[in-house]
Amino acid sequence: MSVRLNSHLSDKQLHALKDKLLAEAERIRTNFQLKKNEYENSSATGAKDEVDSANDNILLAADMRFSNRESLYYKKITKTLSKIETEQYGMCDECGDPITYTRLIARPTSEMCILCKEESEREESQNFFERRSKSLGREMSVSAGTH
Ligand SMILES: [Zn+2]
Repeated sequence: MSVRLNSHLSDKQLHALKDKLLAEAERIRTNFQLKKNEYENSSATGAKDEVDSANDNILLAADMRFSNRESLYYKKITKTLSKIETEQYGMCDECGDPITYTRLIARPTSEMCILCKEESEREESQNFFERRSKSLGREMSVSAGTH
């Protein structure tokens, strides 16, 4: 019998992870449906005063931000669900090391081991600060020129 690449995960663990992903996908689908119904019902009630529609717009904007995040997450879940059928699931995309079950069950869409994840987050925040200090430097030289 050949050994699976992601053999650090038992069949039982893989099942648990898949169940969790399916449950998450279901939760998001239900949420979307609820939001959609809510929106359709509220727009069907007809005339409203200005304050109400202003509030609606704020809520709608917040909803859309939420929906964007959820739909990205939903895509990630679907991607992970097809990946879970392959031996690549549970392996770090960066270094190829196995990702621990503890980490996966907490976040089944993880694609990196904790070390690589921390590393990439450090790089991200470094890039962020570099960009910030660059644009800050530009702003300072611009304002220095005008004075
Ligand atoms: Zn790694």
